[in-house]
Amino acid sequence: MNLKNIKQPFLEIFPGDFSKNPIQRNTPKILFSTIDPVGFDDPKLIIFNQKLSEEIGLGKYNDNDLDFLVGNHLPENIKTYATAYAGHQFGNWAGQLGDGRAIIAGEIQNTEGQKTEIQWKGAGATPYSRHADGRAVLRSSVREYLMSEAMYYLGIPTTRGLSLSFTGENVVRDIMYSGNPEVEKGAVVVRTAESFLRFGHFELMSAQKEIDTLKKLADYTIKNYFPEIISEGQQKYKDFFQSVCTKTADLMVDWFRVGFVHGVMNTDNMSILGLTIDYGPFSMMDGYDLNFTPNTTDLPGRRYAFGKQGQISQWNLWQLANALFALIKDEKFLEDTLNSYGTYFWKAHDEMLCRKFGFDELKNNDEEFFTNWQGLMQELELDYTLFFNLLEKIDSVSDVKTEFQKISYTILEETKLRKTEDFLKQYQLRLKNNTFSREESISLMKKTNPKFLLRNYLLFECIEEINEGKTEMLNKLTKALENPYEEIYPEFSVKRPSNYDDISGCSMLSCSS
Ligand code: AMP
Ligand code: MG
Repeated sequence: MNLKNIKQPFLEIFPGDFSKNPIQRNTPKILFSTIDPVGFDDPKLIIFNQKLSEEIGLGKYNDNDLDFLVGNHLPENIKTYATAYAGHQFGNWAGQLGDGRAIIAGEIQNTEGQKTEIQWKGAGATPYSRHADGRAVLRSSVREYLMSEAMYYLGIPTTRGLSLSFTGENVVRDIMYSGNPEVEKGAVVVRTAESFLRFGHFELMSAQKEIDTLKKLADYTIKNYFPEIISEGQQKYKDFFQSVCTKTADLMVDWFRVGFVHGVMNTDNMSILGLTIDYGPFSMMDGYDLNFTPNTTDLPGRRYAFGKQGQISQWNLWQLANALFALIKDEKFLEDTLNSYGTYFWKAHDEMLCRKFGFDELKNNDEEFFTNWQGLMQELELDYTLFFNLLEKIDSVSDVKTEFQKISYTILEETKLRKTEDFLKQYQLRLKNNTFSREESISLMKKTNPKFLLRNYLLFECIEEINEGKTEMLNKLTKALENPYEEIYPEFSVKRPSNYDDISGCSMLSCSS
């Protein structure tokens, strides 16, 4: 890999602590602290993303690159660092947080001038580790690496995975917080993004009344990542906020399209660029359920349930609005922008649903159609993804009842089956309202509805295998996730097998990572 060109503009622009002091502490008024990765004696590469490496300008993998991928070898003259941010967690102000197990190497540029930040996750503690060890376990690292790649190939903005390696070290985690800690294998993921900046970075500077740095941070973000903004003064920050709102809403609509539930939508896990970031107790939704949350910590309030993600993103944007107030200084503008967020989101959401059904455009009665459909999905516990796959081929299905039973997580007795018939009649009627031909409609559905979903039980199986030193599942999943709109392995096009229903890590997960 070509590591010579890693640059670190962040360190030159913003106030930071260059002491490399690893002691966990509050670091007021600054945005980063330099820190070295701990280094590991016996690392082993599990997977390297050659395509991504070439795309971002790092080039081909050489044998000694593993030392860089686990943080043992650092290119000359680079100062690795962790950034400070704050955040609202589960609706409450949490104060300073920061990169607790992420360390940034810097930024690389490809031949087209595109810049990409590179960071290790799990390479050791930082000043922001808050009594934790800064390590990551294999389980959470496999999930992050594969899911971020799956999202990328689904066409959804996301951070990406460059590599996944064993550290050779064991890590102790109490997975279900039940007082039964277990030893797990440690791992490091190298992940990349155009930028890892979060709402929380802005919140931290605003909370500390560091308005100069807040302004610098907004200017830096706009200049580098929002080049389309050319206005000046307060208007510039208004345009910035408006753009973050649009990107965030678009991301939420994409999550709804494929059934992604993030699980921990705290403001520190919200990317300022509208990327999917920080893959923890996420899940792709199997059975359709607006109340589904994969995160055990979230069960009491279901704040981060599938159906709430639009609303919660708006709440998070309110916190960002508060943080940017010192620059925008216009309450009415912020309120209006946030209020129109809901309108924009729901319109985009409903238009997305239209595409899933193969409708050419949103029509007046569609809201009612969608509500009925949601009722059907919820009551019959139908698999979200398989439902649309079935709908696409419904014209040629001989035994509709059997097909619906195959995609339901409950027993469909006669009354329920009749509801599917009623729904299909409504659907056929609605299709008649299309200016599209049936072929055009199906082709739109094929582009919108994935055939392959990286479900938690598949990740679970893959993790078990890697733990035992096998990589067959990893290779298969990698191939499947790179082609999510095709059916490469028919065995993956089935609902979650019932033996996985109650296994932790298959439908429910904790934040432990
Ligand atoms: P998360 O819930 O994963 O978004 O993490 C919230 C905060 O805890 C962030 O500041 C993380 O960097 C930090 N954190 C989570 N896990 C660890 C860990 N194993 N070691 C150090 N910091 C962690
Ligand atoms: Mg996080």
